[in-house]
Amino acid sequence: SASSSHSDSSASIMDALPVHGLSETIVGVLGGGQLGRMLCQAASQMAIKVMILDPLENCPASSLCYHHMVGSFDDGDTVQEFAKRCGVLTVEIEHVDASTLEKLEQQGVDCEPKASTIRIIQDKYLQKVHFSQHDIPLPNFMEVVDADSAARAGELFGYPLMIKSRRLAYDGRGNAVARCEEELSDAVTALGGYSRGLYAEKWAPFVKELAVIVARARDDSVSCYPVVETIHRDNICHIVEAPANVPEKVKKLAVHVAQKAVSSLKGAGIFAVELFLTQDDQILLNEVAPRPHNSGHHTIQSCYTSQFEQHLRAITGLPLGDPSMKTPAAVMYNLLGEEEGEKGFHLAHKLIARALQIRGASVHWYDKPVMRKQRKMGHITIVGPSTGVVKAGLASLLSTGNMESP
Ligand code: ATP
Ligand code: MG
Ligand code: MG
Repeated sequence: SASSSHSDSSASIMDALPVHGLSETIVGVLGGGQLGRMLCQAASQMAIKVMILDPLENCPASSLCYHHMVGSFDDGDTVQEFAKRCGVLTVEIEHVDASTLEKLEQQGVDCEPKASTIRIIQDKYLQKVHFSQHDIPLPNFMEVVDADSAARAGELFGYPLMIKSRRLAYDGRGNAVARCEEELSDAVTALGGYSRGLYAEKWAPFVKELAVIVARARDDSVSCYPVVETIHRDNICHIVEAPANVPEKVKKLAVHVAQKAVSSLKGAGIFAVELFLTQDDQILLNEVAPRPHNSGHHTIQSCYTSQFEQHLRAITGLPLGDPSMKTPAAVMYNLLGEEEGEKGFHLAHKLIARALQIRGASVHWYDKPVMRKQRKMGHITIVGPSTGVVKAGLASLLSTGNMESP
C-alpha cells in the first residue's frame, strides 16, 4: 500500500505553485510548543505562513511564527475564531477540543488530520479499541472503573500491570505500574482516581521500543521514515537511534504494522507509531501520535525531508519529499530539565557547550520560559558515518560533567 507521491508530473506541480510562498495556504497550528516551533522553522524555509494558537505569550513557537494568537486551543469559541483566519488547521498536540474540530469540519474548515482521528487518538482507551477493531496487534487492555474491575484486570493480565489514564497523557505522566494486587489502589490514586478515566494494559515484556513516522498526503499516498529505536527512561523518551539496529524482517513488520495503523485513520499529515518489539520478534502497537513526534526529531539533520517539512507538504497539498536518510546514522538525545530554575539552565548549558564541540552534533534549544524537572527543554542530534561513530559521539558528550549517562 506504500506508494510514492513523486508520480505527479512537475508540470502539474508548477501550475499549482503560487507566485509567493511555496503554498499560499495559511497553516493554523493548535499548540505552540517545541513541535510548533520546529514546524515554523521548516515553514520559513519554504515561505509558508504558520499561525499558532497557544495560551502562553512566550511559548516556544511564538517568536518564529507568522502570527501568534494568544488563547486556549481547548476552548471552542477561541478555536473557531482562530480557524477563520487559516486555510488549513492542524495540531501539534492531540489534547484539543475534538467536538469543535468536528463542528468546524461540518462548516467546511479543512482539518488535517481529521477531527475523527484526533477524537480517537486523544482517548488512549478508545484508541486501543479502534486499533483492535482494525486487527492491529496490541497488548491486552481493558477499561477499569472501580476496584473490582482493576482486580479483574490483574487476574486476567497478571503483574506487573500497567494502569493508564485515558486522556491528557504525555511523557508517561498518565501511567502507573502496580507490581501486585496490593499496589493497585496506590497506582490508581497516583493517576487521580477512577473518576479520571482509566484503563489497564497487560505488561509488554519488550526487548526494544521502535517507532515509525508515517506521512500521508492529501491524495492518500503514504511514505514511511526509517524505523528507529526509542530508549525511554522513567517513561520519557531519552534517546533515539536511527536507523534501528534490528533485522530487516523486523523493520518490514514494524513498517507494515505502522502503515496499517495509520491507514485506519483519516486525514493528511505526519503520524508517529510507537511500537514494542518482543523477544520472539513480534511487533505490538503502543500508541499513535497524529502529528510530528520526538522520535522524528533526528530527521531535521539526517533525512532529505524532515518530518516537519513533510507535515507541511502533506497538509498543504505539496508533493511529499524523500524520507530516507542522507547520513548513515543519527542519534538524538533529549535535553530534559534536571533541576528547577537557574540551576537547571546552568546544567543544560554545560552540556550544550560540550555538544557544540562534537563533530556532527546539532543543538536545538526550545526557548521554554520555565525550566522544570523532566521537561523537554531541547535536544541534540549527532549524525555521522556509522552507528558506532554517532554513539561514540554521544558517549563523549555524556562522559563528564553533571549530566547522567544513559
Ligand atoms: P508519550 O510522551 O509517548 O505520549 P505517554 O504518556 O502517552 O507517552 P505511553 O507511550 O503510553 O505514555 O508509555 C510511555 C512508556 O511507558 C512507553 O514508551 C514504554 O516505555 C512504557 N510502557 C507503556 N505501556 C507499557 C506496557 N503495556 N508495558 C510495558 N511498558 C509500557
Ligand atoms: Mg502518548
Ligand atoms: Mg508514548
